[in-house]
Amino acid sequence: LLTLAIETSCDDTSVSIVENNDEKSSVSKAKIHFLENITSDSRAHRGIHPILALESHQENLASLVDKALRSLPASQNDGNIISLADGSTRRRPDFISATRGPGMRSNLSVGLDTGKALSVAWQIPMVGVHHMQAHLLTPRLVSCLEEGDDARVMSPQFPFLSILVSGGHSILVHSKSLTDHKIMASSEDIAIGETLDKAAREILPPSLLQEAQTTMYGKTLEQFVFPNGKADFANYRPPMNRGEEVVKRQSQWGWSLTTPFANTRALQLSFSSVSSMVNKIVKDKNGTLSEKERVDLGRETMRVSFEHLASRTIIALEALRLRNTGDDEIKTLVVSGGVAANKFLMAVLRSFLDVRGFEHIRIVAPPVYLCTDNAAMIGWAGIEMFEAGWRTDLSCRALRKWTLDPQADDGGILGP
Ligand code: ATP
Ligand code: FE
Repeated sequence: LLTLAIETSCDDTSVSIVENNDEKSSVSKAKIHFLENITSDSRAHRGIHPILALESHQENLASLVDKALRSLPASQNDGNIISLADGSTRRRPDFISATRGPGMRSNLSVGLDTGKALSVAWQIPMVGVHHMQAHLLTPRLVSCLEEGDDARVMSPQFPFLSILVSGGHSILVHSKSLTDHKIMASSEDIAIGETLDKAAREILPPSLLQEAQTTMYGKTLEQFVFPNGKADFANYRPPMNRGEEVVKRQSQWGWSLTTPFANTRALQLSFSSVSSMVNKIVKDKNGTLSEKERVDLGRETMRVSFEHLASRTIIALEALRLRNTGDDEIKTLVVSGGVAANKFLMAVLRSFLDVRGFEHIRIVAPPVYLCTDNAAMIGWAGIEMFEAGWRTDLSCRALRKWTLDPQADDGGILGP
């Protein structure tokens, strides 16, 4: 199966050509013939400027599709061919995958309507893809095992638990099948990526702020507080009793951070208290933070945020273990989204699983370029849905809101 995929739900205009791979021995489930993203500069204003993002889709999508066509595999002698302007021919895709929602409606429509037009012109079906479902299925396209130094590749089987952590999302999702994804916990305030970004702006020394703007605040903060990578947190163990440490830190610096919801087992995430604590500490220090204290504050910010995430993951796994038996047991924890690039997060999750009786669960993460918004994940989700028999009628509209839960009132992912 060969698909041309389009993603325009947010500020990335992305086109990809994806082909599923029949070779059972192959590490990747599909071949990505083409993948290109153009990100609008709509983020200059903190947060996304919808009109600038829309204009960027309108300006860039057609030329990206045009470019993608050149990467289609060579035509076979079965009549399913596309002729390009230079006289060469290519294999015609079997169907179109286009993001249908959730997202900004006008932005989605640029991609969805282009997809419909290609579908009519080439006389092939279309699958309107759920953007969040695509994020959740990405590890089945290609994932790396996060343990040891050999990043072995594996593709998780259902059921699995996903942690989606990015600039705009922090959710824990239980995926039972292609179309059965249940959100078990989400942030009641801001996303973890936003928390780390805000903290980084306050903690990083001024000399690194410029760099952080171009690389990503979270990544720069990780490099600043863990300059030696894994060696800097090789001795990390989950907390048994942090009392002594709190006293020590209080007497050394005059501050300590507390983990959100440390005393409850609510299946809920919250990160705004971490931002507030960091903000207050930096304000109180009034420009007197030494480099050493900055490093410690950065490490503590990550530790409390990641331990909060890890403790909710354990609570979710325990709840699922109570409900399930035998074959339904979760064997894989998927971590995706931009924050999944953080090695300390992986170490914290691994340690929590090991000491709380889940040492058999493997942690996998898709490569970072597939964790952030991209059309290859839309193509892969399209392929999985197409293979399962799904087609979307060309009268479909873009959906600003589209729940994932098939049990939701509107039918969720199985709905309109
Ligand atoms: P969304 O996709 O939810 O709309 P987004 O596009 O901002 O949001 P991503 O691109 O997936 O999200 O991720 C960006 C976030 O990941 C930023 O908050 C960034 O600081 C964070 N991030 C990237 N690398 C790291 C890292 N190594 N450690 C921690 N955070 C990181
Ligand atoms: Fe996304």
